[in-house]
Amino acid sequence: MNKTLKSADSAANGGGIGGDDLHVPSAQNLSRKFPRPTEDSILVCTVGGVGQIGMNWTLYGHAGRWVLVDAGSAFAPRDIEGVDAIFPDPRSLKAIIPQLDALIVTHAHEDHIGAIHRLWPALKAPIYATPFAGRVLANRFRELGRLGEVDIKTYNLGDTLEIGAFKVQTIRMTHSVPECAALAFKTPAGTVLHTGDWKLDPNPVIGLPTDTDALKELGREGVLGMVCDSTNADRYGEITSEAMVAEGMREVFAKSKGMTVVTCFATNVARLASVARAAAATGRKIAVAGRSLIRTEQAARECGLLDGVPEFLHDVSHLKGLDRREMALICTGSQGEGNAALARLASGEDNRLPAIRPGDVVVHSARVIPGNEADVELIFDGLRARGATILQEEFNGKPLHVSGHAKANELETMYSMIRPRFAIPVHGEREHLEAHERIAKASRVREVELAAEGDVLRVSRRRVQKVAHVKIDLLCALSVARGVRLATWNPVTLEAVPFEKRGPRNGQRDQKRKDSVKPKGGRRNWRDRKPRQDRPSEEGRVMRMG
Ligand SMILES: [Zn+2]
Ligand SMILES: [Zn+2]
Repeated sequence: MNKTLKSADSAANGGGIGGDDLHVPSAQNLSRKFPRPTEDSILVCTVGGVGQIGMNWTLYGHAGRWVLVDAGSAFAPRDIEGVDAIFPDPRSLKAIIPQLDALIVTHAHEDHIGAIHRLWPALKAPIYATPFAGRVLANRFRELGRLGEVDIKTYNLGDTLEIGAFKVQTIRMTHSVPECAALAFKTPAGTVLHTGDWKLDPNPVIGLPTDTDALKELGREGVLGMVCDSTNADRYGEITSEAMVAEGMREVFAKSKGMTVVTCFATNVARLASVARAAAATGRKIAVAGRSLIRTEQAARECGLLDGVPEFLHDVSHLKGLDRREMALICTGSQGEGNAALARLASGEDNRLPAIRPGDVVVHSARVIPGNEADVELIFDGLRARGATILQEEFNGKPLHVSGHAKANELETMYSMIRPRFAIPVHGEREHLEAHERIAKASRVREVELAAEGDVLRVSRRRVQKVAHVKIDLLCALSVARGVRLATWNPVTLEAVPFEKRGPRNGQRDQKRKDSVKPKGGRRNWRDRKPRQDRPSEEGRVMRMG
């Protein structure tokens, strides 16, 4: 069975990755090398993001050239401290790096961009991103003092990019972060559509709805293959919208008699806007607490996405002295992260934050990622002990959170618009991919191919077929105060291995293996493990290829 891996779909912490089954070839006797992309087909390599949620990386190849779509990360298991993120090792792609013309970013979620600032310029290709995602990336590179080393090119939704062997049409999609793109890879051999993460939000609050006209037009032109988001493929339901959450927030803010606190995923700009407006409409001052939310707000303001949205107080101490009914706060910590603002509200240990008092209301405006339930409940208990009421899911019939991913019925609509000949479900655990496969088959798709990580699929007019399986190694980013430090990630033993420790050496490594066990209860801190004294693992800071 697949071990459950958790979403890195937000800047919130949480999620886990591991298990012995991540790199099992999906078919025997396949070539272990990247095939050369030919003129008569399009190659699709699912480097990551299939069989697990997180670290989405997909390669497209045609006529001797390649393009990478997204380079995301997954979070390490919660009980392994000292490891911030896990992602494919670009050295696994070494053979095709000289033919790589670009990295195209579909949107600014960690599971799509989380590896980029940690790896560049290892892949030596320009990065194409929308203004918001580009700004988020640029801010990260600037913090690392490396903005000058990277070539970030901005595209606007609807643009067609000429990159290497491809014409790439970008199509506006709605999701839970602004400016999401689907990418149609157009070649003389046919078109493959990469949907990215999407839903059909009729009123996304920030930006415009999914460009269904462009999708229908593409469907009329003819699409060979569709590589599509599977996250919610296992459920049917109402098509939800960020505007519904905005109404829910307004209602809560109006009815709450105390301070109103909202916690959400740190990348949800629409949620920031809805909460700011709800505060303004009910005569409250609202502060923002938590570094990742402040960064998101800053990038969104720089891009003009929050034009006309009331300002937040950036100094939470300015809430002090106000009447409780005039106070509001939006904060990080929706996944129960121990050091986030919500946890500090619950413990009462941070006297920069206003104390929670009886009558206050805390809105949990996020899904709890499986595995984080106990951490979240612990924080809820702390908040309740101080007299707060916790609201989740909905209030007076209005939702307080909606998913950013298409449900089964929305997938059916997508298939009816695109009518692809072949389907490659991605972005999901095995059960989601299989649910997606059923929908695709019911939508009269000729063939559906369930890919594993490292699979290379050839899409031609005649068929979709697995033609190779490339071994994808993993890296992890270790928690350091500044900069980036990388190590190899062992998905079997769930341990970070500094680069100089790779492979058996004088029997030390074998001894280490015997010593290392998967964490059972109790937190394991990677930094507590004895480092080799002779050489610090600084070489991991900058990764160079070839
Ligand atoms: Zn995603
Ligand atoms: Zn996403």
